[in-house]
Amino acid sequence: MDERAEQRHRVVIVGAGFGGLFATKALKNAPVDVTLINGTAYHLFQPLLYQVATGILSEGEIAPPIREVLKRQRNARTLLGTVTRIDPDARKVTAVAPGISYEVEYDSLIVAAGASQSYFGNDNFAEFAPGMKSIDDALELRGRIFSAFELAEIETDPAAIERLLTFVVVGAGPTGVEMAGQIAELAHRHLPGQYHSIDPRQSRIILIDALPTVLSTFGDHLSTQALRQLHRLGVEVELNTKVVDVDDTGIEVEAAGGRRRIESATKIWAAGVAAPTLSRQLAEATGAEVDRAGRLKVNPDTTVPGHPEIYAVGDMMSLDQLPGVAQVAIQSGRHAAGQIRKRLAGQPTGQPFKYFDKGSLATISRFSAVASVGRFRFAGLIGWLLWLVVHLLYLVGFKNRVTAVMHWFVSFIGRGRSERVATFQQVYARRALQEYQHRLP
Ligand SMILES: Cc1cc2nc3c(=O)[nH]c(=O)nc-3n(C[C@H](O)[C@H](O)[C@H](O)COP(=O)(O)OP(=O)(O)OC[C@H]3O[C@@H](n4cnc5c(N)ncnc54)[C@H](O)[C@@H]3O)c2cc1C
Repeated sequence: MDERAEQRHRVVIVGAGFGGLFATKALKNAPVDVTLINGTAYHLFQPLLYQVATGILSEGEIAPPIREVLKRQRNARTLLGTVTRIDPDARKVTAVAPGISYEVEYDSLIVAAGASQSYFGNDNFAEFAPGMKSIDDALELRGRIFSAFELAEIETDPAAIERLLTFVVVGAGPTGVEMAGQIAELAHRHLPGQYHSIDPRQSRIILIDALPTVLSTFGDHLSTQALRQLHRLGVEVELNTKVVDVDDTGIEVEAAGGRRRIESATKIWAAGVAAPTLSRQLAEATGAEVDRAGRLKVNPDTTVPGHPEIYAVGDMMSLDQLPGVAQVAIQSGRHAAGQIRKRLAGQPTGQPFKYFDKGSLATISRFSAVASVGRFRFAGLIGWLLWLVVHLLYLVGFKNRVTAVMHWFVSFIGRGRSERVATFQQVYARRALQEYQHRLP
């Protein structure tokens, strides 16, 4: 007898971010066996990374173990591994984890590998201006930010103190705005009174963008409101300004007035996203096209052209110019899972993915956020309350919600920043880690 006749339909899902995790959940109780392969053992709630970097939340609160999240889903297993190759002809993926390489076969494949940081061709900037994509990034930044204040306290050279107390955030999208706002709150509200030689209020927080507005995707009204709130917090916003070089002690920018240098010990890169390497590998293997950012061009139903059994969802798919936001990933992941369910039930498939835009949110500081929901625009406290509710709804895990609320209480009502620990390893291990990754098979 054919062994496969006994076998249930095998769904492999690559990536346990918003797209992959919600696709897995949407297959609960379906007549399939799901294998979820992720580069880390945890699901990462990226929108709150900036709060880990600025000492509000602990990393565990935004990164629950995938195993725990899925422990009641009997048809899903989780494997640690970075998928390096997809073979559409043999219908199998190859993954690597430290010291081990393995293959998993599939009948249907959902690829949800997200996006990575783009330095617009200047990858050497990464060493001096970490991005904000991973827990490693956030903890490294936390170490750099708090160490800058510590070093300024013991430094005697006024120029060096000024450099240490100058924080530059590149990119005035939601991540950059949130990051700049939180560093400003640290410097002006949380840290004053804790140092003897320096006054943290002397810090400069500079937000730079090549575009003429902050939060450009939120429209003119909210963009202006956000700019006003940033100024109120003491953030210096430099628009129409392009970063041309970054090194250990500063950043070079070019604007209408010409090129100049800003001395700064802490630089944060919050500009630009690129598709993951897996996107190009899959494109080469299937003959699919990629867009300028390297995202895979998919059919309207999120399948890869010529391969009705392969879906690409979330940040790595290119479809109808949909933005790289959590809701697109969640909804497209659920859509792909729904299509697989339909196919197995013998129902017609191929329905186009329809994105329902629930709105956009960005916080600027405590009790202050901007929100765009349908035709409504909110700024200030109402926007912030909306932000609070939405983040509580989507933060994965009941325990995480409870402890996050406690930390928000400490930071927003009180003046505490309880998560300030950063180890030397977190600050200095980037190079060693890169070396190590190069040695992986
Ligand atoms: C700092 C920051 C702030 C953000 N703020 C907001 C916000 O406020 N609102 C909003 O809507 N969106 C926000 N976003 C965007 C949002 O987080 C993404 O759109 C969303 O996470 C995309 O989901 P995804 O599943 O496509 O990818 P991801 O959530 O990035 O998940 C991809 C997963 O795939 C794994 N992976 C990658 N490559 C491989 C591989 N080869 N093999 C195995 N696993 C792999 C990764 O480890 C990761 O777990 C933010 C993003 C960042 C970085």
